[in-house]
Order: sequence, then C-alpha cells, then structure tokens
Amino acid sequence: MALTLTDVTLTYPDGSDRLTALDRVNLSVPAGTIAAVTGPSGSGKSSLLAVAATLIRPDAGAVTLETDTGRVDLATLSKRAAATVRRTTMGIVFQQPNLVPALTAAEQLEVTAHLGGRGGFFRSRPETRSRARELLDAVGLPSHAHKRPAQLSGGQRQRVNIARALMNDPTLLVVDEPTSALDSERGAAIIDLITTIAHDHRAATILVTHDPTHLHRMDAVYRMTDGKLSRVETPVATEV
Ligand code: ADP
Ligand code: MG
Repeated sequence: MALTLTDVTLTYPDGSDRLTALDRVNLSVPAGTIAAVTGPSGSGKSSLLAVAATLIRPDAGAVTLETDTGRVDLATLSKRAAATVRRTTMGIVFQQPNLVPALTAAEQLEVTAHLGGRGGFFRSRPETRSRARELLDAVGLPSHAHKRPAQLSGGQRQRVNIARALMNDPTLLVVDEPTSALDSERGAAIIDLITTIAHDHRAATILVTHDPTHLHRMDAVYRMTDGKLSRVETPVATEV
C-alpha cells in the first residue's frame, strides 16, 4: 500500500486571515518504506500527519492510498468512510497519547484489535493477548501490562501509544516524534520496532522526528519549512 500526497494545501483560520500550514505539498511513500520528516516547530509537520491520517481534510490536493484492490482519495472520503479506513488500515501515533484512563496497558492494545484491522479480525482472544504482550515487551514495558495510564510516566504512556498503533499490523503508519520523551537507548529501540513493522508488514510510514541520529536508517528524508516540503539528500549508508 502506497501513500501519495499531490499538491496538498491546508490552511487554518487565523483571525480575519488564514494561515497556510501546508503549501502545495507533494510526497510519495511506497509500501514498506519510511519517509522521515524533520523541520522546525510550527512548520507544519503535525498538520501533514493529520492530513495523511484523514483527521483533517485539506483545502486542496489529493491524498491517495493505493491498495491491492484499488486507490482511494482520502481527501474526499466521507467522515464515516475515513473512520473505517483509519480503524482497519492505519496506525496513528500523535504526541499526546489519548489512552483510555480506565484500561490497563494490555487492554488498550486488545481493544484496538477487537475494533478492527487486518490482524484483529482473524485473531482469537489468546492470539490477541499474546500479540499485545509481545508488543509491550518490544517497547520495553514487559512488567507494566497491568497498569493504567495514571500509573505510567509520560514516556511509558508514549510507548503504550506506539505499541497500540502497531497492534493491527497497519498498512499506513504515521508517527509524530516518537522518541521525544525517551532516552537514546529506548528511542533507538522504538525506531527499530517501527522499522521492523514498516519493512515486514510493508507499511507505508511517515515518521516525524527531531532526532537526527536515526535519519541514516530512513528510506527518504524530507524537511518542512513554513509548510513547504522538500526532499533532503542523505549520505548513502556505507557498509562496514
Ligand atoms: P509542527 O508539527 O511542525 O510543529 P503544526 O503542523 O503543528 O507544526 O503547525 C503548523 C502551523 O499551523 C503552526 O503555525 C501552528 O500554530 C498552526 N496550527 C496548527 N494547528 C492549528 C489549528 N488547529 N488551528 C490553527 N492553527 C493551527
Ligand atoms: Mg508537531
């Protein structure tokens, strides 16, 4: 599944004027690859993810998701159809984890599986449980599965949020600054996990990151400046 944004423009109301958050953005993310997006605060990175994730409809342009069965323009889907696409094909990680206060870490993941998704549909309850376990282990929270959000630190909540987004083997993964609240070792482990999911499950992935240490592992690197997106040439990784 590939994601393509073509001439996407997004504005927000700004007093009597409008603020251009995305200015004719073009981006193509093939299945199984990660596009990293860097850039200063306020440049439009989160807006780009919100548009790709169908949470905001752009003023103009196309957001095309290409699947085995055809293509769909996410920018013109009804709210209801967009919600279905999100639930069944997307993994979405925003900076503020909106975890359900009453659920434990393991339950956050299990509920997501029951709500839909390629994997979720066919997984039995024990399979769902063990997949949730596996992901909580992978994000470094093996002994926190029974804890509710209030019992977790900010960084731990962020990791639950990431594990939850991976629960349904998404084919489109959008991730906003996943390592910002983590130390470098945990951050590297999270990037490893996202890389594995992107490559093994052929997920088209957009990763917003401030952290330059991981950029050499990305398939493409872009920079956002004042709503304009441009490709950054990265040094070719050399084998040692
Ligand atoms: P980044 O993620 O790169 O920090 P954002 O996409 O969050 O940038 O924001 C881009 C610009 O759009 C900023 O100037 C921000 O203030 C503005 N903005 C973001 N969200 C809204 C909103 N909901 N309403 C109005 N302006 C917004
Ligand atoms: Mg942001």
